[in-house]
Amino acid sequence: LRCRPAVFFDRDGVINVSPPRGEYITKVEQLTLFDNVFDWIRLFNELDFLVIVVTNQRCIATGIATSTDIDALHRHIAGECLARGCRIDDFFVCPHAADSCNCRKPKPGMVLAAVHKWNIDLPKSLVIGDSDLDRDLARNCDMRFVRAENGRLR
Ligand SMILES: [Mg+2]
Ligand SMILES: [Zn+2]
Repeated sequence: LRCRPAVFFDRDGVINVSPPRGEYITKVEQLTLFDNVFDWIRLFNELDFLVIVVTNQRCIATGIATSTDIDALHRHIAGECLARGCRIDDFFVCPHAADSCNCRKPKPGMVLAAVHKWNIDLPKSLVIGDSDLDRDLARNCDMRFVRAENGRLR
């Protein structure tokens, strides 16, 4: 696999409208995608960046959703992208409770798994997220960070 940079997108608050605090999106009907995110993804596709979503979904550990539910959401998002002429290459999910794994952001586990799978050029890669967890993930992996808020770059 050719070594390429990647853009790591956070999901909630970046690709789709965040659920209310303490709640989770478990069904496609609850998902509202931000329109401009398709343009960002298309731009990164054209720049030959891998486009990867990294998302903490503690709702799986707590039993609010199953990993099948979350996979269905991600298949839906991937399909909406393809319908708009852009492509998300992969999704990585941390399904674990806090302080129980090495992949819950800002820990680097999902990024390291992606690097292993896709041969990613980390120093040229970046994180786009709406929270300090995403900022700290970028810092922990020596990547640049771009803050997004409600579907807009800040
Ligand atoms: Mg977020
Ligand atoms: Zn985890």
